Amino acid sequence: MPWTAGYSAMKKITAPINRIIPFSNVDGPSNRTAIFFQGCQFNCRFCHNPETIHMCVHCGECVEICPVKALSIQDGRVVWNKELCVNCDTCIRTCTRSASPKVTEMTVDELLPQIERVRPYIQGITLSGGECTIYKDFIIELFPRVKEMGLTTLLDSNGSLDFEKNPEILEYCDGVMLDVKAADKDFHEWLVRHSNETVLRNLEYLLRAGKLYEVRTIIFPGRDKDNTDTVSYVSRIIQDRCIYKIIRYRQFGVREEQQRILGDDTTDEAYAKTFVELARSLGAAKAYLV
Ligand code: SF4
Ligand code: SF4
Repeated sequence: MPWTAGYSAMKKITAPINRIIPFSNVDGPSNRTAIFFQGCQFNCRFCHNPETIHMCVHCGECVEICPVKALSIQDGRVVWNKELCVNCDTCIRTCTRSASPKVTEMTVDELLPQIERVRPYIQGITLSGGECTIYKDFIIELFPRVKEMGLTTLLDSNGSLDFEKNPEILEYCDGVMLDVKAADKDFHEWLVRHSNETVLRNLEYLLRAGKLYEVRTIIFPGRDKDNTDTVSYVSRIIQDRCIYKIIRYRQFGVREEQQRILGDDTTDEAYAKTFVELARSLGAAKAYLV
């Protein structure tokens, strides 16, 4: 049984929400509410939010460590008290599973008032993670109601869900921000611990469906061939039909053991710019550096 099976089996659909940022200007166009879900099938070496990858297994090891008693065990489950929490993140540093106990299971009805509260000041919402598309049924229920509010809807995705086989998730979705982490199969599997087959299929399908808002690729220091392969692959496909964000690898927040492998320095800006030039020379006119 898949580890998310419990969510779809529940009477009311819920999803584990890691955090909500009411106003974000880095998660899509204009001012948006960004909603981060817990859980991801990928395990990227460069992940900046590794505590969003795994689900808490309620082992309880972080409970005693909390300095303000914001964690407790109730009916064998760790419960987080948001009001008491001082966000010191000691629990997250303690967890050997790269999980977080600071997650709230929410229904769509519980989430909507948080969006409604800031509605006059935002253009839309962006669902992120973790990987938001794991909670497909929740999104299918949420998006039409957000559209009724007059807001736009974006998905920030690792591309693991086959969108062509799940077109219902796109019906009320204005666009997908898709990570293409590596074009080369072996490099992707090493970097992410997962195949890129579906991601690359999604790149072409989302373009055809008119739902690709932007693509993002990270440029790693000293990996000339891998960087070139990925940027060339994406650019030749997208041309000027969507934004292409070329992102410098940054070591901040990356797990220490992975920093030792990937490097503990940010990718040099001048080096990263050469990939923007490459992308544009291949037709990706909307490529720019982040
Ligand atoms: S967050 Fe980690 S340490 Fe805390 S209860 Fe969950 S699995 Fe255990
Ligand atoms: S982040 Fe919150 S729940 Fe975690 S240890 Fe600190 S106060 Fe306790």
